[in-house]
Amino acid sequence: MDFKDFELIYKENRSEIKNKSNIKLKLIEIIGEKNVSTEEVDLLAYTKDSTLIGFNWTIQGLIAGLPDFITWPENVIHISEILKLANLEKIPVIPYAEGSGCVGGAIPIYGGIILDMKKFNKILDINEKNLTVTAQAGINGMNLERFLEAKGYTTGHIPQSIRMSSLGGWIAHRAAGQFSTKYGKIEDIVLGMEVVLPDGKLINFKTIPRASTGPQLDKLFIGGEGTLGIVTKATLKIWPYPEKRSLISYAFPTFEDSLEAIRQILREYIFPAVIRIYDQFETMRHFPDIEKAKDKVMVVFICEGIKKLVDLEEDITREKCIKESGIDCGDHPVEHWLKTRFRVTETSTMPFYKIVFETVEVASLWENAANIYHTVLESMNKVKGLLMITAHVSHFYPNGVGIYFSWGGVPLKGNTDLDFYQECWNTTIKAVLDAGGSIAHHHGIGINRAHWMDQEWGVAMNTMRKIKNLLDPKNILNPGKLYVRTWKGGDN
Ligand SMILES: Cc1cc2nc3c(=O)[nH]c(=O)nc-3n(C[C@H](O)[C@H](O)[C@H](O)COP(=O)(O)OP(=O)(O)OC[C@H]3O[C@@H](n4cnc5c(N)ncnc54)[C@H](O)[C@@H]3O)c2cc1C
Repeated sequence: MDFKDFELIYKENRSEIKNKSNIKLKLIEIIGEKNVSTEEVDLLAYTKDSTLIGFNWTIQGLIAGLPDFITWPENVIHISEILKLANLEKIPVIPYAEGSGCVGGAIPIYGGIILDMKKFNKILDINEKNLTVTAQAGINGMNLERFLEAKGYTTGHIPQSIRMSSLGGWIAHRAAGQFSTKYGKIEDIVLGMEVVLPDGKLINFKTIPRASTGPQLDKLFIGGEGTLGIVTKATLKIWPYPEKRSLISYAFPTFEDSLEAIRQILREYIFPAVIRIYDQFETMRHFPDIEKAKDKVMVVFICEGIKKLVDLEEDITREKCIKESGIDCGDHPVEHWLKTRFRVTETSTMPFYKIVFETVEVASLWENAANIYHTVLESMNKVKGLLMITAHVSHFYPNGVGIYFSWGGVPLKGNTDLDFYQECWNTTIKAVLDAGGSIAHHHGIGINRAHWMDQEWGVAMNTMRKIKNLLDPKNILNPGKLYVRTWKGGDN
């Protein structure tokens, strides 16, 4: 099969690299023959990430982006030299880890060199006194967690994609795990980092519990989405593995009641590790057998830690739920959630029915949370071709929440999947902004949200673009993402 048989989705700005064989030889010189490929089978494997519409494209024989070279660097010198070559030849470099990103962040829309981080997979140090672990950035999340569990520890960062995502990918997208209400998002967990800048220079940020040493430059690379530097290793907080877990669930008459109960819990400085509100539609989908939850809003909680504290947290959690008319549904719904929490079969079957499906997570302060939920549902239900829109709330803070919408539908005749997908994205994000929310909670910006960044950030986005230009004047690192309007829409 030839690539001419495939239609390329993102082709607008792709230009052919003229001296390809010469560049391949130079790459081989830097990292050795076994670490470079231009085989079609390899190129094809890196044409997409896990952006859900990508699965529709795959079964239709469409490809998102087409890289020119695949590389597997083994050390920081390899990365540094590849970046120097890319600057010299003005070739895009796209960091690629496990490809589980859902916003197109790792799609090579301008072609170029894929820098696959999978050989950066070593755990370098665990320090039980400082409660830290240091690992290379390409390490698979599950491998890191298994290693820690065997020693009696956890990072507390357990995203649904833990088996298919990496430490570097988490940092790049400011990821959030299922237990984030207690342990925080990845930006709360990272204590130190090593980064290769676009010009090939290496910087090391000290591992520190807190500092007062001027602006914290390391924060620039958390959420950098591979556009400002390559994260090569990081030091994370770890915690002793919990002694006790309490599984609690309550069904509430309304979405508002469930939000209020949780707001009251967090005001007491009580942090159940897991809290998940399922709206009425998702309660019906995930808990059809729980009679007490019929037509209600299910909330599952897990309190974990040392027994004495967990017992107290459980008491207060129950007290607040009962006060907001919650009905105790026992531990069975939580056990069910624990058993099924990594299952995504529903999502992956959608493309076979020609359904375009997506999940969009956003953030909100408490005062806007219910309004955002209702505004998005109302706006999305007006989109022609929409079959479903539901939501759950899965990340909580004393000041607000992360809300996660799921929608699916079929484009009207004459429209492409991408037309429909963009219309739904734009409708969701516009409704979120109109209702006072923020456009992303943990999946990042990538391609899908880039055209909303000016509205989200305001004039600060111009400063961000200047910083990008300063660090990467030839725009070689992951071009077409984060700062660039790849889609239509946004504020103008
Ligand atoms: C089924 C499923 C469930 C998911 N569940 C969650 C969840 O619970 N929580 C959550 O937060 N996300 C979730 N995601 C999204 C995804 O797993 C995250 O965005 C994850 O952080 C991406 O990691 P990755 O290693 O796969 O990165 P990739 O997809 O390979 O890359 C993502 C971005 O990071 C950049 N990048 C990768 N490595 C580096 C590096 N070392 N240095 C600099 N830039 C780099 C890439 O260029 C790209 O822009 C889910 C995705 C799927 C498909």
